[in-house]
Amino acid sequence: MPTNHATDGPARPAPSSAATGRDMPALFLGHGSPMNAIEDNRYSRSWRTLGATLARPRAILAVSAHWYIRGSAVTAMAAPRTIHDFGGFPPELYALDYPAPGDPDVAAEVADTLLPTVTALDETSWGLDHGTWSVLVHLFPDADVPVVQLAVDARLPLDAHVELGARLAPLRARGILVVASGNVVHNLRAMDFSQPDAGTDWARRFDGAARDLLASEPGDLGRLADHPDLHLAAPTPDHLDPLCYLAGLAAAAGDTPEVVLDGFALGSLSMTAFALGMPVAPAARPGSPSTTARSSS
Ligand code: ZN
Repeated sequence: MPTNHATDGPARPAPSSAATGRDMPALFLGHGSPMNAIEDNRYSRSWRTLGATLARPRAILAVSAHWYIRGSAVTAMAAPRTIHDFGGFPPELYALDYPAPGDPDVAAEVADTLLPTVTALDETSWGLDHGTWSVLVHLFPDADVPVVQLAVDARLPLDAHVELGARLAPLRARGILVVASGNVVHNLRAMDFSQPDAGTDWARRFDGAARDLLASEPGDLGRLADHPDLHLAAPTPDHLDPLCYLAGLAAAAGDTPEVVLDGFALGSLSMTAFALGMPVAPAARPGSPSTTARSSS
């Protein structure tokens, strides 16, 4: 069972969006190392604070970089397993279980919302991968909110993922919290262990370009496909694709997301997180360490 961190932050507001008539927020979180699931650091603390600020959703729709397949699918099992999809980490990480229930009805609702894209209801193969649980263990430490995962279709260009994200917009009014999890910049081959909390020039440029597009024309996030640093920042697009879902949701709402956490890791990972429709962005309060990297870009 995950540790309950709920006492670290303010009590979770009770009303759901269904009760208040307000759309649920939507998030993109840079998840970085799987160790963030069990470490107490500025990222995990920020996710905990963010989670404590959210009203309780009816369900969570996670879009994780680590379910990257050639097709469209959504998990539809009642009890998704915790998948430890990595190698070489300490036993403590493999022992972590995130026992949130699934919700087959919500899975069917997601599939309906994505039509005419035909989305398979996966009742047996996947579950919750670490892109999902490494952040949810902090956002919702009680693991009591149903979670379904949407696969990232590896065949699609960035702008098609933006379009799919826009199609998910009605779910926000039905109490579903979309949590996209990846990294704006993600190049494992370029990791530099002498720079634990720094970003290379190209990492900062690409992260800045993503922020600028999200702050101005989120529907045009697909233009990152033409960015000169793309081949270094996203040599494979799996960790960037989830950001497109938040961009699409923002475009559909005529809104722009806020940066709620930033920072770089090992030169070649961006930990930037964005929130859409948050009345308060607790992690971005003045004096928070989350604002330290902004001046360097
Ligand atoms: Zn990852």
